[in-house]
Amino acid sequence: VKIGIDAGGTRIKVAIAAKGSFQFMAFPSSELEQAAAIVNDLNPSQLCITGGRADALQAHLAQRASEMVEFEATVRGVRHLLAEEGRSETDYVVTNVGTGTSIHHVEGNRQRRLGGTGIGGGTLLGLARLLTGLSDYHEIIRLAALGKRDRLDLKVHHIYEGKEPPIPGDLTASNFGNVLSHLGEGKFSREELLAAVVGLVGETVATTSVLAIPACSVSTVVFVGSSFVQNESLKEVVAAYTKLRGATPIFITNGEYSGALGTIL
Ligand code: ADP
Ligand code: MG
Repeated sequence: VKIGIDAGGTRIKVAIAAKGSFQFMAFPSSELEQAAAIVNDLNPSQLCITGGRADALQAHLAQRASEMVEFEATVRGVRHLLAEEGRSETDYVVTNVGTGTSIHHVEGNRQRRLGGTGIGGGTLLGLARLLTGLSDYHEIIRLAALGKRDRLDLKVHHIYEGKEPPIPGDLTASNFGNVLSHLGEGKFSREELLAAVVGLVGETVATTSVLAIPACSVSTVVFVGSSFVQNESLKEVVAAYTKLRGATPIFITNGEYSGALGTIL
């Protein structure tokens, strides 16, 4: 058994390679001991680790894990998962929406970090908590999917009332910029607030990714990271906004495990 671990700020991702296939598991980063106990029980013949919490996790592991640079691991994993899906892209942007967001250009076997933004999955959880009091990820994304953003977000066509706008009217002119115009109508629902937070995060990561493209002139953005786990509304916002801005979005199955997987390939 070979095991690869990506110990991130929020989630510990584990990839287990046995008998020619892979299995995946994830734990909250607060459960370092539990994750380590499971890894120790499997007594892997090869153990590799990456991510900001690698050293903290290593302290609980029964054997010495070799360490890999996180960006290198992520990109290796992405390359493998793309190939597994029968895709032939060799030149693209990878956007990893984890707690925060990191953006990379992959060209063949090389990768270069283009930049990032502090807006990511952690922003979704943090703002959700402040606005609604909710802190369960699954509850947050379930309610977000039921909400509409119309009363919170200001679209370009709201500003260019009846007039032909110089840019697509459906672009968001201002996330949460419509709030003040709807204060008289009573409270915003949790669903609306959460949908608007998903909109803010999704549009920001899509826009930042597309704006990073001129530095490498590709047209495809591969989105990975646990922020997309079961989060269809975030995927929808990111996909629509990436297309609206002229690039092609790709989401890959098990993309949240690309770092963990990349360490054992
Ligand atoms: P990191 O590598 O920084 O730990 P991840 O790629 O694991 O980041 O993504 C973390 C984000 O994934 C969280 O901020 C949250 O939005 C989302 N997420 C997905 N599943 C869960 C979960 N079960 N509990 C909490 N957050 C989750
Ligand atoms: Mg990460």
